[in-house]
Amino acid sequence: MNKLIVKKFGGTSVANAERIEVVAELIVKSVEEGNQVAVVLSAMGESTDELINLSKDINPNPNLREYDALVSTGEQISVALLAMALQKRNIKGKSYTAYQLGIRTNSMHSRARILDVKVDKIKEEISKGIVPVITGFQGMNDEGDITTLGRGGSDTTGVALAVALEAKECQIYTDVDGVFTTDPRLYNKARLLKKITFEEMLELSSMGAKVLQLRAVEYASKYQMPIRVLSSFRAGEGTLIEEEEESMERPIVSGISSIDTEAKLTIRGVPDIPGVAAKILSPVSEAGIDVDVIVQNISADNTTDFTFTVNEEDAEAAEKILLDMSNSFGGGLVEVDRDIAKISIVGRGMRAHAGIASKMFQTLADQEINILMITTSEIKISVVIKRDCMKDAIVCLHDAFDLDKELD
Ligand code: ASP
Ligand code: MG
Repeated sequence: MNKLIVKKFGGTSVANAERIEVVAELIVKSVEEGNQVAVVLSAMGESTDELINLSKDINPNPNLREYDALVSTGEQISVALLAMALQKRNIKGKSYTAYQLGIRTNSMHSRARILDVKVDKIKEEISKGIVPVITGFQGMNDEGDITTLGRGGSDTTGVALAVALEAKECQIYTDVDGVFTTDPRLYNKARLLKKITFEEMLELSSMGAKVLQLRAVEYASKYQMPIRVLSSFRAGEGTLIEEEEESMERPIVSGISSIDTEAKLTIRGVPDIPGVAAKILSPVSEAGIDVDVIVQNISADNTTDFTFTVNEEDAEAAEKILLDMSNSFGGGLVEVDRDIAKISIVGRGMRAHAGIASKMFQTLADQEINILMITTSEIKISVVIKRDCMKDAIVCLHDAFDLDKELD
């Protein structure tokens, strides 16, 4: 029987020596229960933020090869400390950097993607009772340079390692009890979900649920590696994210996510001709800017408006691109609106139920919340609204869809 579990611990779980001892105890317990364990760690507490701030003190736009060399050091500290804490408990902990292990990535510094993970060596070690403790968040490219996987990237390391090791489960320990129907800080009736499908989690992650890095969920879904999100602070089963089974209950709406860190850009007076959307969006994506909700209006006078949302951080760069473009089109207006939030309801039961969208829109209308943009997928409906309405929107939707009540 497969007894191998990959356990990944986030920054708050290893924030100080005391927390590292707690994590060591959790690992001892799991080993005593007969499991084989491989560990992936984030950097301690806020140390990645501190390193990023340091680099910005030197240069607001640091060279990304050096940025990666710097920010990857945080994880090197936590893994060595945990290995020591394990050894103190007579567990053969052994730290590894991604470099030592051979976690190969592409060369997109600061947002690299994992290409493959060499596990022969640690597989052998695990079979000898060693608990490898591996740096999350980092890899190396073919030039042998250190790369990092983007903020929250240790989750992806955890999943990639679980896949390469053919583990039975990837457990992601954090400071919350699991995945909730909505952010409990925004609504106290939020309920912990016992199970959720990859598909739903992907929609929730991409729509702002901050528990897991989106790429980690994509990776897990691709290789069908079950992920369990759980707390390192309190005992509990957490939330299991897995492939949908026939027998699984299908709630119409499983969760509501919100994001208030996007900005909306509009370019007006765009000629309504084939290829224009590609012409607008290609330079934006070439600049590495992720575009989210996109709306193109019906044209009047052969010109149209084109609106999309991006991360607030990218708004300025996207605006510049649009201004250049607008000049080449004859000078249509470019507008940026940062006062927005996006709310999404997600649930695989939506496929089989009509009327969910209208219920959502009516619920918002009853609260006099104006909808600025709408997009839908098979299992998700998102709306963009004014930022100061975000909390009210979550509360009224959570109530309207009875998300505080468990399916029976
Ligand atoms: N330490 C990195 C970060 O803060 C990676 C991670 O925690 O997953 O983003
Ligand atoms: Mg994290």
